[in-house]
Amino acid sequence: MNAGKSTALLQASHNYRERGMNTLIMTSALDDRTILGEIASRIGLRENADLFSPEMNLMEFIEERSHGKKIACVLIDEAQFLSEEQVWQLSQVVDDLDIPVLCYGLRTDFQAKLFPGSAALLAIADQIREIRTICWCGSKATMVLRLDSSGIPVAEGEQVDIGGNDKYISVCRAHWRALDLGPHDKIQSELPLAQ
Ligand SMILES: [Zn+2]
Repeated sequence: MNAGKSTALLQASHNYRERGMNTLIMTSALDDRTILGEIASRIGLRENADLFSPEMNLMEFIEERSHGKKIACVLIDEAQFLSEEQVWQLSQVVDDLDIPVLCYGLRTDFQAKLFPGSAALLAIADQIREIRTICWCGSKATMVLRLDSSGIPVAEGEQVDIGGNDKYISVCRAHWRALDLGPHDKIQSELPLAQ
C-alpha cells in the first residue's frame, strides 16, 4: 500500500546512516508485491532489507545482529504482517536492548479489520504517527480497497492474498463504503496504487 510509508522509512534510515550510524531494515517475507529483500519507494529510493517470516523470533534475530555492529535503529516495513508475539519481541528490543524500533504498516485490511500486527502495535507502541494519504475526492484516505486483476473492487477474500494479482488503493471512508473507485481517469493518473 502506498501511503508514502516506504519513503518515510527509507528517509528515516538515511537520517541515521548519514550520521555514520547503522540501521537494520526489515520487511515481510509475505509481501509478494515488492522484490523480496528490497524496500523501494515510488520516488526512487531503495534499500536492501532483511526478511521477517511469521515464525521468526525478532528479539533473537536483532540481538544477534547487534553483536557484529551496533544498531542505532530498527526499521520494519509491512508491519501489519507481524504477529502479536513478534510485536512483543520488538518491545523487548526497545526495553532490553535499548534500540529504537520504528514500524511502518497499514492499520486495517480491505475489509476494515485490524491486522493482528497493527492491533498489537496500536495497543503497546510508545508512539503512533499517522501518514496522511488523500482519496481521489480530496478527503483524507483512511481505508483500503482491494481491486481484482481487472480493477474491480472486491468485498470478500483472505486478509493476506499471497501470490495474487490484486492491487490496493487508499480511499476515504465514504468511498470505501460505496466501493467507489472514482473517475477512471483519476485512477489511472493520480491514485497511488499499492506497492
Ligand atoms: Zn473519497
